[in-house]
Amino acid sequence: MKTNIGAPFGKDALILGIETSCDDTAAGIVRGGREILADEIITSAPRHVPFGGVVPEIASRAHTEAVEEAVKRAFSSSGVSPEEIDAVAVTYGAGLLGALLVGVSFGKALAFALDKPLVAVNHIRGHIAAAYLADKTLEPPFLTLLASGGHTAIICVKSFTEHEVLGSTLDDAAGEAFDKTARVLGLPYPGGPNVERLAREGANTVKLPKMLKGAGGYDFSYSGLKTAVVNYVHAAEQSKKPWSKADVAHSFQCAALDVLAEKLFAAAEERKIGVVAAGGGVSANGYLRERLAKEAAGRKMKLVLPEKRYCTDNACMIAAEGYIRYAQGEFASLDLNAEAYIPLKNASEPL
Ligand code: AMP
Ligand code: MG
Repeated sequence: MKTNIGAPFGKDALILGIETSCDDTAAGIVRGGREILADEIITSAPRHVPFGGVVPEIASRAHTEAVEEAVKRAFSSSGVSPEEIDAVAVTYGAGLLGALLVGVSFGKALAFALDKPLVAVNHIRGHIAAAYLADKTLEPPFLTLLASGGHTAIICVKSFTEHEVLGSTLDDAAGEAFDKTARVLGLPYPGGPNVERLAREGANTVKLPKMLKGAGGYDFSYSGLKTAVVNYVHAAEQSKKPWSKADVAHSFQCAALDVLAEKLFAAAEERKIGVVAAGGGVSANGYLRERLAKEAAGRKMKLVLPEKRYCTDNACMIAAEGYIRYAQGEFASLDLNAEAYIPLKNASEPL
């Protein structure tokens, strides 16, 4: 098991990361897998608001317009020249296929033109690697809560390259449940942050199912909670009695997030691992962050929470994971293709 990233490959390697899996066109430059030198994001989020969610064709077009500009900005804001980078790391999946193809094509062309290695990065592993940017001394083993729009899982990071999935969602992802709840409450896209904002004005008064709480090992299930929220709102709308959207948002948030914190720390105790981290868009949620901090402090465990900006999609996490791959000498060929779906894998299976 390798725990010493960087050796024997350049410890201070400069990796350019490119991320285009969803609605953010991002480019970042990271030194030694830890130090952020550039962090640029050009988002197409406002263009999706009228549609209530990301429109893949609009996202792809926006990436085409923005990717060169994002990379140029990364070079100019860092003062690093294109010739100085050691590798180009690009998200090849999972995500929207057309959107991914823009980044993959651009990354390949740039790597070829600069005669630098190309590194293929799994977006999910990028979210895990965001913790290395948050705590420059962090080393495996640790547990990560991965909570995003597509995934919800507790992952044991055994070494820089080996992961074990201890549990994951059996149906919807936590972020999906936030987005669906936002829609049924009439809140605009992006759903997660808007549910969180509204939840601050409410209280935990609506009885909702706590899915697989205390059951199902470290697995999660969100479809029952999602349906319960939809049913509650529809019944409330028809009842003509006063009801509080803020209370629904607050109660949903507690039901959706308490179980994540509880299972994460139960797994850490069982595994006797004293370091926990989190990643993915849902881990930007303030209520979850407070819960995690409280649970960690109560157990005297170390908690590594990336800044909110590095919980949601960004290219620095792609560069951080790209650095680990680069340090292993795992280079991609120029026939690299984008993958819309990549199953959560265990251990160090090749990507
Ligand atoms: P990701 O898939 O990692 O890009 O994260 C996107 C998902 O995170 C979406 O489903 C969002 O609704 C969710 N999300 C982003 N910010 C928050 C937040 N503050 N609270 C809850 N969910 C959030
Ligand atoms: Mg993501």
